Amino acid sequence: MTTWLYTHEACFAHDPGSHHPESPARLKAVLDALSDQAFAGLVRREAPRAAVEDLALAHSRRFVEAMLKAIPATGHAAIDADTILSPGSGEAALRAAGAVIAAVDAVLAGEATNAFCAVRPPGHHAEAERAMGFCLFNSVATGAERARHRHGIERVAVVDFDVHHGNGTQAIFAADPHLFYASTHQWPLYPGTGARGETGVGNLVNVPLRAMAGSREFRQAFSDIILPALDAFAPELLLISAGFDAHRDDPLAQLMLVEADYAWVTERLLESAARHCRGRVVSSLEGGYDLTALGASAAAHVAALMAA
Ligand SMILES: [Zn+2]
Repeated sequence: MTTWLYTHEACFAHDPGSHHPESPARLKAVLDALSDQAFAGLVRREAPRAAVEDLALAHSRRFVEAMLKAIPATGHAAIDADTILSPGSGEAALRAAGAVIAAVDAVLAGEATNAFCAVRPPGHHAEAERAMGFCLFNSVATGAERARHRHGIERVAVVDFDVHHGNGTQAIFAADPHLFYASTHQWPLYPGTGARGETGVGNLVNVPLRAMAGSREFRQAFSDIILPALDAFAPELLLISAGFDAHRDDPLAQLMLVEADYAWVTERLLESAARHCRGRVVSSLEGGYDLTALGASAAAHVAALMAA
């Protein structure tokens, strides 16, 4: 059994502008880190393109079609101040969601033990009817809905350790007790959601952390709150929104995590997945904006996946 790595060349072609932190160089940093000999055991797969029908499990079909129609033929088109489209953005976003969908299929088929999707744009801020926060389509939510509606999986969990709250995933999941969403995030911070009191139908777990919180607070949030709630939910499939912008070197936020924290949290999540769902885990890249920290953190995360 093996860890599969999904990516696609098209994910480099989403270009939000030369000064935008969500740059193609991010993906290069991750793939360079994963080209080390230590990762020779990864099974490398090209991400397919997500079908509109799959995206329409998490979004409205009208939104998906409007988003693809908004892709400019040249130059840039702005959805909001942070969320910019370039000619390559549609294909990149379809491959990003397609990676998670294919990884879910491979893990549920028992072909892969677990999988990591090295893709961009990220997805966790995208709501059913709205692209925002660098995100076009919600790849992880699409993968979760795919597992529910195409594979008949009863309970799917998403754990999100990106420094920002995954408002999009939360909003898509909030009314569905078959879906579980847990997040640690700096708070207050963009996008402003993720207060402790946001609990959905008992299926949302939010643990806001104050600026300058580090390893101790992060691990405590998982040990005391998120992991027990995840165990109680007993997922049949676990998805990870793997953002690495809670790293101490990240320029967009002020949490103080280090690479070892990403290895630690990945190991704990794999232990929970081993208890409940034969280790079936699909992780997808969200944020992470210091290139050195991003590469090293993603490497620590994937190394832990491979050790499962
Ligand atoms: Zn983020």
